[in-house]
Amino acid sequence: MGVILPSAVLVVGSLGLDSLRTPAGSVDETLGGSASYFSLAASLYTDVRLVATVGTDFPTHHRALLEKPTIDLGGLEISPDKTFRWSGMYGNDLNVAQTLDLQLNCFADFHPRLPDHYRESEYLFIANIQPSLQLEVLRQAKQARLVAVDSRDLWIEQERDAFTEVLRHAHLVLLNDAEVRQYSGEQNVIAAARHLLTLGPKAVVVKKGEHGALLFGPDDAVFAIPAYPHAQVADPTGAGDSFAGALMGYLASTNNLTESALRRAVVHGSAVASFTVEAFGVDRLQRLTMPEIRNRYAALRQLTYVEEEPD
Ligand code: AMP
Repeated sequence: MGVILPSAVLVVGSLGLDSLRTPAGSVDETLGGSASYFSLAASLYTDVRLVATVGTDFPTHHRALLEKPTIDLGGLEISPDKTFRWSGMYGNDLNVAQTLDLQLNCFADFHPRLPDHYRESEYLFIANIQPSLQLEVLRQAKQARLVAVDSRDLWIEQERDAFTEVLRHAHLVLLNDAEVRQYSGEQNVIAAARHLLTLGPKAVVVKKGEHGALLFGPDDAVFAIPAYPHAQVADPTGAGDSFAGALMGYLASTNNLTESALRRAVVHGSAVASFTVEAFGVDRLQRLTMPEIRNRYAALRQLTYVEEEPD
């Protein structure tokens, strides 16, 4: 049998300071942004190449959390402007984040530039950034074997046409249920996901927060995975991005894009996201270990295991 060589994952996304309020408490200016959650999750599986921008006010102790041997920060641009800031609040329905304040700052004039050694990356994740910037990334990463994209309500509302163009080039799209409904105009999530499959992607992952996730593939294939049943969630921020990080990290580490690998990757996504929500910000994620992930993977399998009906 040949040796499987793991690939690196390239991520382009936001990096910034989050102020978060949930029923369990609040934090101010903690490390946030889609790229931070994604990188910390994916780096548990394989090497990560990060492209993002922060200002000179970005605290060194936040940067230190990303300075790991498995995360290449060669694509992190330091801007003279201030760092991106997001302030979000969750009520009793933890599936719905309410944006209280959004300051794009250096992110407003950002144009992602991939360092030369990033350009041949085979696994590419373009997190929720302006769709026009997602297109700029696609123009620079021509070698990607797997292009996965995410978005969010604001960008779908402001740059719908550009996002449609992004979808034409994506192999995998990850959105939450509200976003697939918003984009497709379909209230039924199944119909909405199938609509997305007609636009370019080969697979669609619909994240449903505490209700788990659905994976849609070609030929009406559907796979469902629950979220790990937690009686208490501290902070759901970053669940989607760490889900994507684990999913992409797993696929790149195994270099396998079969349907069954994709199913296992979705279970890894659900396992890692279930840890992220146990504490505020990246607190739990940055302490996470592979043995813990393996245990939770087993627990998720057990949760859905059912014997055959006896004869
Ligand atoms: P998630 O909870 O996985 O949807 O992602 C949360 C992260 O997205 C937070 O850490 C925010 O900093 C970041 N974020 C929020 N709004 C935006 C936006 N409009 N563009 C890019 N990133 C954002």
